Amino acid sequence: MSFVRGLKCRECGHEYPARLQAGCEDCYGPLEVDYDYDAIKGVLSRRLIESRSKTIWKYRELLPLDREPVIGLGTGGTPLLRADRLGRALGLDNLYVKNDAVNVPTLSFKDRVTGVAINKALEFGLEAVGCASTGNLANSVGANAAAAGLPSFILVPENLEPAKITATQIYGSLLIKVRGNYDDVNRLCTQIADRHPWGLVNVNLRPYYAEGSKTFGYEIAEQLGWKAPDAVVVPMAGGALISKIHKGFKELERLGLLNGEADTRFFGAQAAGCNPIVDAVKRGSRDIRPVKPSTIAKSLAIGNPADGYFAAGLIAQTGGWGEDVTDEEIVSGIRLLAETEGIFTETAGGVTVAVTRKLAAQGRLRRDALTVLAITGNGLKTQDALQLEPAPVIEPKLAAFEAVIERAAAGAVA
Ligand SMILES: *Cc1c(COP(=O)(O)O)cnc(C)c1O
Ligand SMILES: [Zn+2]
Repeated sequence: MSFVRGLKCRECGHEYPARLQAGCEDCYGPLEVDYDYDAIKGVLSRRLIESRSKTIWKYRELLPLDREPVIGLGTGGTPLLRADRLGRALGLDNLYVKNDAVNVPTLSFKDRVTGVAINKALEFGLEAVGCASTGNLANSVGANAAAAGLPSFILVPENLEPAKITATQIYGSLLIKVRGNYDDVNRLCTQIADRHPWGLVNVNLRPYYAEGSKTFGYEIAEQLGWKAPDAVVVPMAGGALISKIHKGFKELERLGLLNGEADTRFFGAQAAGCNPIVDAVKRGSRDIRPVKPSTIAKSLAIGNPADGYFAAGLIAQTGGWGEDVTDEEIVSGIRLLAETEGIFTETAGGVTVAVTRKLAAQGRLRRDALTVLAITGNGLKTQDALQLEPAPVIEPKLAAFEAVIERAAAGAVA
């Protein structure tokens, strides 16, 4: 049973039935799924949610499916870990990491959004699915489309990381490289969606797709004992994830499922080489000035973010802030998380850690605030961004090993 009332324009409030449509016919504003919250309140309790298995589907009343899901059944339920060693390095006393680097099936938070979108594509009876992607979405659409038995057409910028190409093609997807950046790819996908009866998950299925991100927020609150954190630091590409974590906390509050209020401050993280949302925040504006991306954080390289206006607005409205970091800082962020917490994240996670370091140093993140970092992707996919020391090679002799150890110890002291 579904609690969806329909789609509603985020700009003018015009309502539409729940169909395959992403934009308002009156004002071109983005459409969002609208629910019957009073009816949900009548059935959904903490106890019911806690009794269900640890996947995104434990919050199914707050997701826009009419039928039981058939793919993505293992997605979600990722760890929320206390990060004391990282916290000490950053000067934060109450730090947590939400680790979607180990989400399934494809090791990023995108499995949450495609889990919803591809089940919805099956409900709509669509013949094929696809997406415009900066990499992780490509992997996730490929895997979930294969599991659903649907062909998939996936368009990416030509310069995507090799691991993200392989981890898409392996599923039998038709992956196409486009000469241009993500914004060029996205424009092309909008034209494709107009011509073919397909579900482009972040184009014509976008209202449904984006709802999947709310589960990242639901899980954080439930894992904290039904409490919204004081602050979150979230990497931003199109700006959907940060907006939907906010929506998730607000919904739990509205349904009476939270201890205390949903008064979390939202901090947005971007790379200096692609920072249109952070730039708007720093100007005190919501109006996005599109940029041409140039950064190793390719998963965040969207120069004209679809939800940038809303993301910049909610950062300001919650008393948060936005920061950006250089490619060098991104790499040191990846290394710091790995060396302190044993978590290998991709470049987007490096952005989040490095921005957190900056915000803590600026005093914008309070030392005692319960802060959650959104780690959204896995480091095995962006190894080309790292240039680690070559490993020593030795003869199979104890003396050779001892010599290496001595040199390493001397290096550590120096
Ligand atoms: C897509 C992506 C994001 C940001 O997603 P938006 O909802 O577009 O802002 C963050 N991290 C990773 C690893 C991603 O792949
Ligand atoms: Zn409208």
